[in-house]
Amino acid sequence: MKKAISFAAAAALALGQAASPAFFTSVAADDDYTQFPLTVEAETLDGNVYMHDYSDNTDKPWTSIYGELISNGEYSGEGFAYVQGNTISMAVNVPEDAMYQIDLKATFLNGTEGSSNMETIAINGKEYTAYIGYSTEWQDFSFGKVRLSKGENLIEFIGAKYGYYEIDTITISEAEFPDFSAASVETCDPDATAETKSLMNYLHSVYGTHILSGQQQIYGGGNYISTSIRYDSNSDTCVDSDGNTYEIDRDSKDTDDQGNVFYWHCTGDDGMVYTYSTQNRVYGYNYYDNDVDLVYSLTGKYPAIQGFDFGSYCPCYCWDDGVAGRMIEWTNEKGGICTASWHINVPTTLADYTLGEPLDFSKTTYSNKTDFVTANCLVEGTVEYEYFKLCMANLANELLKLQDAGVPVIFRPFHEAEGNPSTTDDPTDGSGAWFWWAKEGADVYKQLWNYLQDTLQNEYGLHNLIWEENLYAWSDYSAEWYVGDDRTDLVAYDKYNTQYNRHDGKTSGPNLDAEAGIFYKLIGYVDNHKMVAMAENDSIPSLENMLVEHAYWLYFCPWYDSGDAAFVSGENYQDHEAMSELYNSEFCITLDELPTDLFKGSSPITTTTTTTTVTKTTTTTTGQNINVTLYGDANCNGTIEMADAVLVLQAQANPDKYGENGTDDEHITEEGAANADCSGSGDGLTAKDALAIQKYLLKLIQLPEE
Ligand code: CA
Repeated sequence: MKKAISFAAAAALALGQAASPAFFTSVAADDDYTQFPLTVEAETLDGNVYMHDYSDNTDKPWTSIYGELISNGEYSGEGFAYVQGNTISMAVNVPEDAMYQIDLKATFLNGTEGSSNMETIAINGKEYTAYIGYSTEWQDFSFGKVRLSKGENLIEFIGAKYGYYEIDTITISEAEFPDFSAASVETCDPDATAETKSLMNYLHSVYGTHILSGQQQIYGGGNYISTSIRYDSNSDTCVDSDGNTYEIDRDSKDTDDQGNVFYWHCTGDDGMVYTYSTQNRVYGYNYYDNDVDLVYSLTGKYPAIQGFDFGSYCPCYCWDDGVAGRMIEWTNEKGGICTASWHINVPTTLADYTLGEPLDFSKTTYSNKTDFVTANCLVEGTVEYEYFKLCMANLANELLKLQDAGVPVIFRPFHEAEGNPSTTDDPTDGSGAWFWWAKEGADVYKQLWNYLQDTLQNEYGLHNLIWEENLYAWSDYSAEWYVGDDRTDLVAYDKYNTQYNRHDGKTSGPNLDAEAGIFYKLIGYVDNHKMVAMAENDSIPSLENMLVEHAYWLYFCPWYDSGDAAFVSGENYQDHEAMSELYNSEFCITLDELPTDLFKGSSPITTTTTTTTVTKTTTTTTGQNINVTLYGDANCNGTIEMADAVLVLQAQANPDKYGENGTDDEHITEEGAANADCSGSGDGLTAKDALAIQKYLLKLIQLPEE
């Protein structure tokens, strides 16, 4: 560490002397900060060790052992460091908490062709990992974006974990962030319904500047609350202990094992439907709102997104838990956004199952512990093929109810596919998967995804889905699970790291980490073509962490409370103070803050609108009078389209590139800026102008917006 500091000081000294004596004598506090980009020779760092040669009892540099084996002996500086049991370290001093990029020239020479090795870096004691592949050449290897804290930061390259890699140089630079508006706003389904495109448009409009709050609800028979309502066969009524009667659903007549008649459902005066429990012989209901109500009690707000699951509609047992009705209510009555996963079970042992016959829940599974052959879902004539067709039919039946009601869904089938990293030499064979849909590897998984998508779209005519794929970010092999730009609209990550996968060494308690490194890895996997969400999580990251780290996840969505796994109410999972702060921040969008016209789309993305040219003279900041040729037409191509709103955002976010004097060929022109100043015109470009263009495309306003 001392060496690193002296190195940095020496560099500053040299720079000062070379620049001018005046500069040297007026050393300001800022000069104590490390200048970036900073490249150091790894062999000069503290902790670098040499190989001890017992034959002559001397320490020899690693260049004398491995030097000629890597890139024919080429390296920069005096050699390289070999990190094995040792740790090499350096320090940098930064003016404020911010994200930095850590890139290495390194290689993993001590493996075999096709193998890779996990490497560990610690930033002020917080550990992050990345995988490096075997090679005899120096490689560009990166730990990606990490957060450095104001003041001095200790950066350690730790060999004691798994180690064994050679480092020539280390370069640290200030992190650069992508243009979030470049993520696609087009749905991968070109025939998506107007509501679906409208929702996609809205998601895109908040991505990179806000986070949408979300909360998963329980499904199936969860949160069952017993009441005193019972069926009185003498009077043939449903009655509670206070003597109130309930309307009997006469179609739901049944008899129990003892031959007693009962009815499955009855309804109270307030419309509440109750279900008979054969165990308790009373009626009760499932309290599905438990989790959103918990969120409200903890924060004073409801989430903008609610998560549902179609797992109850398995061909083996097919419980109708009424999920479609709850989703329709959430969107059409509460104005919220729906997302849904699909915990679809298969028979645990195929020999136990007869196609089309019921099979007890206990003999089914969604895990990989089944002899159900996933690849056979695509092979006609197999039981799996016929079974999966039933699964899709049941699913489509529910989704069609939603489509008929005008409800779009962020649909996340076959989630968490990769699971843990592969346990074999084949990195994408599905050996780390815990769900049946991924157990035969990335190729089968992608075929299954495409088959489901094609079937829902073409056979069932479903076009109310915003497709979302769950990815992990263990190594670059994780990217090979990506279904492709034309097959999904969003990609997402499920963050569970209160117990494992955390950077601070703890094994319990809330983890407010924003996981910016993972967020940016996913953006890298999809070349910034897709928006990136946190589809499931335990602890919600803190507002401060997300803002400082630019970890702009599209939304978050904790899993529901269930016994000890109390993801919402449990203080072991959730920091309720941080949760409330986030929920009540400007950054976080809650149910009450969603636009009322959220689903009133008229294909705003593909709409090309021509309007009468409005000419008005506006005064720019330079005092020149510039004619407006068409309000909203930021790129001056004669039409108003989404690209105009994007250009306005780009010009504001990155004026050096997209501003009036920007370096990009597509930068905004003086005329374009005048056109774009279409909300409260005359006040220059603001985010409101981009919003006004989007509102115009949704046919909500005329331009200019007064
Ligand atoms: Ca070197």
